[in-house]
Formats: sequence, C-alpha cells, structure tokens
Amino acid sequence: TVDSGIQDTLKALQIKEVNEGTSTGSKFFSSGEIIDSYSPADGTLIARVKSTTREDYEEVMAKASEAFKTWRLKPAPQRGEIVRQFGQRLRELKEPLGKLVSYEMGKSYQEGLGEVQEMIDICDFAVGLSRQLHGLTMHSERPGHRMYEQYHPLGVVGIISAFNFPVAVWAWNTALAWVCGDVCVWKPSEKTPLCGIACQHIIADVLEENGLPEGISCLINGDYRVGEFMTQDKRIPLVSATGSIRMGKIVAQAVASRLGKSLLELGGNNAIIVTPNADIKMTVIGAVFGAVGTAGQRCTSTRRLIVHESVYEKVKEALIAAYGQLKIGNPLDESNHVGPLIDKDAVKMYESALEQVVAQGGKILVEGGVLKGEGYESGCYVKPAIAEAKNTFEIVQHETFAPILYLIPYSGEVENAIALQNGVVQGLSSAIMTRDLREAEKFLSAAGSDCGIANVNIGTSGAEIGGAFGGEKETGGGRESGSDAWKIYMRRQTNTINYTTELPLAQGIKFDL
Ligand code: NAD
Repeated sequence: TVDSGIQDTLKALQIKEVNEGTSTGSKFFSSGEIIDSYSPADGTLIARVKSTTREDYEEVMAKASEAFKTWRLKPAPQRGEIVRQFGQRLRELKEPLGKLVSYEMGKSYQEGLGEVQEMIDICDFAVGLSRQLHGLTMHSERPGHRMYEQYHPLGVVGIISAFNFPVAVWAWNTALAWVCGDVCVWKPSEKTPLCGIACQHIIADVLEENGLPEGISCLINGDYRVGEFMTQDKRIPLVSATGSIRMGKIVAQAVASRLGKSLLELGGNNAIIVTPNADIKMTVIGAVFGAVGTAGQRCTSTRRLIVHESVYEKVKEALIAAYGQLKIGNPLDESNHVGPLIDKDAVKMYESALEQVVAQGGKILVEGGVLKGEGYESGCYVKPAIAEAKNTFEIVQHETFAPILYLIPYSGEVENAIALQNGVVQGLSSAIMTRDLREAEKFLSAAGSDCGIANVNIGTSGAEIGGAFGGEKETGGGRESGSDAWKIYMRRQTNTINYTTELPLAQGIKFDL
C-alpha cells in the first residue's frame, strides 16, 4: 500500500476536514448541503465541503461586483504582478497541490504535478500578456481624425470546470481574466471540490497580502444547480464552461437566452491517423499514452486509431504487446501507468461501452474488466481495453470517458482516413503519424482535419499553454489559454477622435444646417 501522507498535504494547503465551501477571497462561509469528497485511489473520504446556497451566491456576487470596480482601474501590468506572485506561490506548493490533484481526481502523481506546472506556465504567460493587451490603430477617412481600438475589462467572469483537470482549467481562465481586469467566480466540479478549496486558499493569501479587495477571486461549490446560478445571471457577461457536450448544450442556451457570451470547452472524440509512412515505434508510444494516460479521462485522450491496412497487423500486435506491460494501481505510486476512474458511475459507463461495441459488431482485442482485490478497494480501477470497430458504430461516435481504444482500418489514400477522422460530431484534437510531407500537409490543409488541434507526429493528448486550446463542432468552438484567446475576456471599443473645428461625416455625407 502507498502511504498517501494526505493529512500533511491537506495541512500544507490549509484544508480543514470539514471545510466551508464558498469564498469571496479569504473569507470562507456556507450553509448548503454537504458534498463528500472520496478518493478514487483508495475510496477514503478525504473531507467534506459545503455547497453554496442562493443566499451565499448573492453575497459572492455582491463582493465580486464591488471588487471589479477597483480591479478594473488597476493598470494591467500591476494586475500582472499579482498573477506573478500567484505563480510563485504555486511553484512553492507544487508538490502538495499536485498530490491533492492525484489523490482526489485519481490521475498519476506525475500528471498531478504536470497540471500544477500548467498553472505556473499560464501565470507566466499572463504576466507577459499584461503588457501586451494590444489594440490596433486605423487610419480615419476623415481629415484631422484619429481612430483606434482598445480592450476594456468585461466584469465578473463565471468559470465552470470539469473533474478531470480540477485545477489547470481554472488557471487557464482566471490568470488571463485577471490580467484583463475581470474578477472571477469559479464553480469547480462537485467531484473534485477540495482542489477548488486549495486553489482559493492560495490566491486568497496573495490578494490579502497585497491589500486587495475581497471578491477578485471567488469560489462557489455544488452541482449543476449551483452552476445554473451563474448561467442565468445577467451580471455575468461571460461564462466559461468546460465539461460534457450535454452540459454545454444546456449552458449555451441558458447564457444565449440572456445574450451573454459563453466559452465552451466540451468533449472530444480524438483520432490518430497512422499512414503507411508512420514511424511505428513513435505511433505506439503516442497512442498508448493518449489512450490510457489519466485512465482515458482527458478531453484530448486518444479514442480512435485509424490505421492503414498495410500496417494494421503490425500496429495491432505492437499495441497488444504494449498493453500487456501496463501496470494499473494507485496513482501515487509512480511505478503505475494507469490509475482509477473518477467514480463507480464512470466504471458503469466503461462496462456498458464495452458491451455495446461487441453488440454493434466490434471485436475485443485487449479484454477490459473491473479490477478487484487488494489495492483496488475503491472499485474504480479498470483494465484498458482495445476493440476493433467501425467508425459508424454508435458507441464509437460517442465519447466514453474511459481507457477504451477503437482500432479502425482504412485503405487507399490519406483522404479516406481524414474523412473517417472528421466523421464524428466532436472536433477537439487530431493527429497524423507520417514521414510523408504530402500526407502531413493534406491533413493540415483546409480540406484536412476539422479539429481545433491538429498535430503531426505527436499524439492527440495534451497541449502546451502557448497555443489557443479548444475545438470545433460539438466541442463548442471556444478557445482558452495562449495565442489571442485573451480577447474573449475583454470588450472591444472603437474610438474616433476629431481634433479639428469641423464636423465631417463618414462616407462624405452632407448635412448642412
Ligand atoms: P460534466 O459536464 O458532467 O460537468 C462539468 C461541469 O459542469 C461540472 O462543474 C458540473 O457541475 C457543471 N454542470 C453540469 N451541468 C450543468 C448545467 N446544466 N449548468 C451549469 N453547470 C453544469 O463533465 P465532467 O464529467 O466533469 O467532465 C468530463 C467532460 O469534460 C468530458 O466530456 C471531457 O471531454 C470534457 N472536457 C473538455 C475539455 C476541453 O477543454 N474541451 C477539458 C476537460 C474536460
């Protein structure tokens, strides 16, 4: 057994056994029902968190709206300085926070640390950005006029996040939103509430040390009902929501019905195309990590492997051999490759998907199954499975958040593989393994992958914070993180200034009095 040392971790992160669940800065309070947080690693009840009531929420919104009045007037580079300090604190707390992520969510400790590293990276990015919130200047058609555009803060940004990236997704949003002059209200997943509490403690300390108002970073807790407080709230101009397509469709409609903006980061159904020109060794490493890393619970996890018939047998054999080497067990034990699923509901969905693929005509190549016995007491550990399938199977069209990989053969040219890859409703991440320049460029062309992310000789899983992250079609169309993703957190204003004594109209229109 692994000594999780979790009590020390909770202490380092200021988490108490029964914590309050709502916070407007450093003040924690709440009167709502209790959410129990169990570790999928060993089934332990880690702590209990109180959910946010309507009254609590009103207090949060009052504090956030008040804080915005101060925060929006602070020069952006000074806001960046606060984010720099937050990033520094994350560096100091990387190990305990990474461990909590691993223990509460179930991903490996290395991946937990990686998630905190992403938070640090986005803070660095945001600090630089705080001096680069550039608008354009344009030439006016009227003499003695100047025209330019500027970006202003939006207001209170609502963040709803999924369980599988319990801390990084918040940081991607909030670090950018803060330098843009917004204040944030965050509802983490009800499956990982402690990660939310830990992050709130970290930022609350930084805000307090800098004498900044309560409300720049707020935390609310609970399930979809608490999320709905924000989606229906006209005081929140932007809701950034990460999670399932089902959730995204509901959130999009609620926010659109009040003409708010939503940034949606929803499910994927990611494929790697393996052409006859692929490096098979690289392909196998990329595919196995993509399919079984985080126990298949990444939005960018590899779900489908579309393999040319000429290399199909070779790839299949190499994968089966690699799956035979996988060690499944406690994610805090660094010798394990695969940890647990988030909960028993996820296990049921995994089992059901395996039954469905067989019922729909698929063939199991690597058997799945739920693990029992010592070390697997939580009931959340499953065996990564591989099935031979057709792209048109209903179950293949659907994102199952578990380590199931579908092998799909193709014949002929790369265009046929691209058609299969694009032949799903989701459009998040995609990849091609090839040493052929023409194949790679076709895949990246306008007639190529229809996803928000398209990689060459890299798997589908994982991304760097420097690029804009997100996907097309039912993945929701939102972009977070790098590039110019910051623009959604601001409102754009076009300004025209007349420094003459005349009042010429645009388009030369005459209006003489
Ligand atoms: P989920 O949709 O069950 O929940 C996500 C969040 O939405 C939770 O905080 C939940 O409480 C909230 N929510 C649910 N219904 C809501 C409603 N009607 N109104 C307001 N809030 C609501 O998703 P999950 O199981 O936590 O996460 C897994 C899913 O997230 C997968 O589909 C995965 O692909 C997706 N995901 C996408 C990205 C991305 O960047 N594209 C990143 C991570 C996860």
